[in-house]
Amino acid sequence: MKCRRCGEVAQVALPSHHTGFCAPCFETYFLKQVERGIHDHKQFTTEDRVLLAVSGGKDSLGLLLALTELGYSITALHIDLGIPVSSECARATVEAFCQKHGIEYHILETASKGLPIPLVKKHINRPICSVCGKIKRHWFNRFAYENGFNVLATGHNLDDEVARLFANTLRWDRAYLAGQGPVKPAEGKFVKKVKPLCRLTEYETAVWCFLKGIEHVLAACPYSGGASFTGHKKLLASLEENSPGMKMQFYGHFLERGKPAFEAIQESAPPLNECSHCGFPSSQEMCGVCRIKQVLES
Ligand SMILES: [Zn+2]
Ligand SMILES: [Zn+2]
Ligand SMILES: [Zn+2]
Repeated sequence: MKCRRCGEVAQVALPSHHTGFCAPCFETYFLKQVERGIHDHKQFTTEDRVLLAVSGGKDSLGLLLALTELGYSITALHIDLGIPVSSECARATVEAFCQKHGIEYHILETASKGLPIPLVKKHINRPICSVCGKIKRHWFNRFAYENGFNVLATGHNLDDEVARLFANTLRWDRAYLAGQGPVKPAEGKFVKKVKPLCRLTEYETAVWCFLKGIEHVLAACPYSGGASFTGHKKLLASLEENSPGMKMQFYGHFLERGKPAFEAIQESAPPLNECSHCGFPSSQEMCGVCRIKQVLES
């Protein structure tokens, strides 16, 4: 196969786009797709103050480098969960990466907020990853809001989005189907959330990281059994193999035809409360994170 852009020997095959690229042209392609995701979904411009949630994994670090190369000035936030060995490793990876590329970054330790994850795990009888996800989402948003960032970006890619959409569709979860997508507008103390990798697959992101020599950690969390939606992802991968381009089509058509319908239903939903304890959005009197803290303190 020949590279679509320059005609040299292609090194990266992209069946879903019926094409292939040589290494330098793949990098150009990758950056273009990131820029197109940002632009098409009106995620942010160089005028915005963007905070990127960085775990130390390939998606978030790959995105951080891509955004920097595209000329955006991005601040990174890493949340240190306080898990022995793995958190230290993830944190060191993020610190080394940001220092190497001259990127401004912050570290927030959940332990300093009264929420070291090993202690949370001991006292909360729920799957730990859902709890640690809740804590991270709370603090990513809260840090952005309290420090004057108007956009919070995450490294979710097309595969993450399609797997989540598939799971939401299996349950016909109207609230989630209304809320899912590459951009979520600000609401109250929720800052605007964006996913600039929404046009790129896990494979493409991995290739980008490999070509760029990005050192990343493999699993951000040793308590989890692996990436989320693993079963769904396998199923979707085999569908994609039989009909290349299916993932992008499923997601794209959802955004165009499905999401607006679910949003229309949600408009009558009651607005979010503010947590009586921390003041951040909550569906109940006290938010999930403050309730966890209460359990730990008692
Ligand atoms: Zn080329
Ligand atoms: Zn976890
Ligand atoms: Zn709260």
